[in-house]
Amino acid sequence: MKVAVNLTRCQGYAQCAFLAPDVFRMHGDEALIYDPEPDDAQRQRVMRAAAACPVQALRVDQIDGRDAPAAASVSEAVTMPARQVPSPRAAGPTATAWRDAAMEAFRRDGRIVIVGASLAGLAAAATLRREGFTGSLTMIGEEPYQPYDRPPLSKQVLDGWITPDHTGLPGGDELDARWQLGVPATGLDLVRKQVRLGDGGAVDYDRLLIATGTRARPWFNEAEAALDGVFVLRTRDDATGLSQRLADRPRRVLVIGAGFTGSEVASACRERGLPVTVTERGPTPLVGALGGVIGAVAADLQREHGVDLRCGITVDSLEGDSAGRLRRAHLSDGSTVDADVAVVALGAVRNTEWLQGSGLAAGVWGVGCDAGCRVFDLNGVTTDDVFVAGDVARFPHPLYDYQFLALEHWGNAVTQAQTAAHNMIGLPAARWPYLPSPVFWSAQFGTNIKSVGVPTFADQIVITQGSVAEGRFVAVYGYHGRITAAVAFDQGRWLEFYQRLIEEAAAFPPEFRPADQQPVPAQLPDRKTRDRHATVVVTGHDPSERRARLIHH
Ligand SMILES: Cc1cc2nc3c(=O)[nH]c(=O)nc-3n(C[C@H](O)[C@H](O)[C@H](O)COP(=O)(O)OP(=O)(O)OC[C@H]3O[C@@H](n4cnc5c(N)ncnc54)[C@H](O)[C@@H]3O)c2cc1C
Ligand code: SF4
Repeated sequence: MKVAVNLTRCQGYAQCAFLAPDVFRMHGDEALIYDPEPDDAQRQRVMRAAAACPVQALRVDQIDGRDAPAAASVSEAVTMPARQVPSPRAAGPTATAWRDAAMEAFRRDGRIVIVGASLAGLAAAATLRREGFTGSLTMIGEEPYQPYDRPPLSKQVLDGWITPDHTGLPGGDELDARWQLGVPATGLDLVRKQVRLGDGGAVDYDRLLIATGTRARPWFNEAEAALDGVFVLRTRDDATGLSQRLADRPRRVLVIGAGFTGSEVASACRERGLPVTVTERGPTPLVGALGGVIGAVAADLQREHGVDLRCGITVDSLEGDSAGRLRRAHLSDGSTVDADVAVVALGAVRNTEWLQGSGLAAGVWGVGCDAGCRVFDLNGVTTDDVFVAGDVARFPHPLYDYQFLALEHWGNAVTQAQTAAHNMIGLPAARWPYLPSPVFWSAQFGTNIKSVGVPTFADQIVITQGSVAEGRFVAVYGYHGRITAAVAFDQGRWLEFYQRLIEEAAAFPPEFRPADQQPVPAQLPDRKTRDRHATVVVTGHDPSERRARLIHH
């Protein structure tokens, strides 16, 4: 059986861990980890846990009729208000009869192709079927596996509790889809409405969803990246190699980059009792996502758990022995670290290369789309038959000054995919805008770190609840006098309250904060540095000939 917990919704009440302790475990006070593919013998306990979860965060595969009330696909395991799905005919008096008929025919017999068979692709496919799409559905995936979940790879897989092949997502078997796995899409022809494949084949579509996500940014030196012992962590295969190596008890693990993935890898290594050095170019861990104030708290957490944390430092080179095995790293301060495993955790690269030359607004920053998930063409004009969702998407958000957000969050992948799928098979008047309150979670060093909103969209921060010294607190981010985000350390159940404040553009700093807490600069890195690769030129003088052109690096 397969289980998925929506950890963006989970509030750490632990009923599931009490009712099915072999499947669900609390890590520290609030962080839940679980076995996504437990033994069938656990089925009754898991079903009881699903029924008992107060926020209905827990979903399992439908196995037989008895499970029906509690069972659902992963697409339902997300925080999304139940909305009535209007039939095309309910679209209102503006919808013409021919449009209605065309949409009915498309919903019945149309061809939808989803490129990227992972979380967003699966959630979209499940929504399409649930909302009545009976046409043909093709799932194209570069990896040879049915959709699996990535967050466990840096947590319960790396710490040795479950194996990487125990991370399947529920719902794939019920889709009635044609799966083309182990073959990448290599090109897109918008005129012929065709996806080209790496094996020379092609698939025609009426509507297309792009859900190709991201991949790990590789180590910059190819020869050093090829040393035995150098890993990245994005896929099941990456996790298989790395967890086997950790099980061999290396002398020391070097983690390059202290973002969420790097920090979680360091945490899992400490769980296994392995010596770990973490290097970070910025002044603190997590600085790129949460700023330097919270980063300093994360730094303390790492050091308290025995991590040799070195900030303001880069790794200049990796050195191997004559057999091609990693031996040591040379750091920018002139020191060296002897290590036989290095995990390169330098962020992600968006999988958009296959769209080069397609005429879509796709580049290093992702695939641009409108708030209905419809992809922009190169000139910023929306297409009506190509949609995008998940880590690869980039969309405007009114709460954040209509800036384009690209979120690498589990919850974003699911809810955006649901919105895209709904809009793919609905009339324009029935379309949903995608206006999420982004939620992210991370489990590291026994602490549940959760954020709502966009912490990088801030200039100030203030502690509003709890105690930093005790490691249990909520901090609120503000921008130009309004609340834009909140982050909680082991206080996740408060975030719904803060989500409402963000959505109401409530005043910052909030009056309810403790009297001794004053806002301080959030210490976020300069955004221009992060986006430096994006380039476009505009050509032509006359409005009829003016066009945008992407410059690829
Ligand atoms: C180790 C790890 C830990 C994480 N932990 C958390 C966490 O704690 N909390 C959280 O909120 N989020 C976490 N995330 C992020 C979360 O997993 C992602 O946001 C989510 O997987 C995004 O889903 P996606 O479907 O958009 O993209 P992906 O999961 O990246 O899937 C994209 C798929 O498309 C395939 N693909 C790419 N190019 C092509 C092509 N040309 N043709 C065909 N297929 C292609 C890829 O192989 C991949 O299978 C974590 C991610 C990782 C890697
Ligand atoms: S909220 Fe639900 S999923 Fe989360 S710990 Fe409690 S019972 Fe488990």
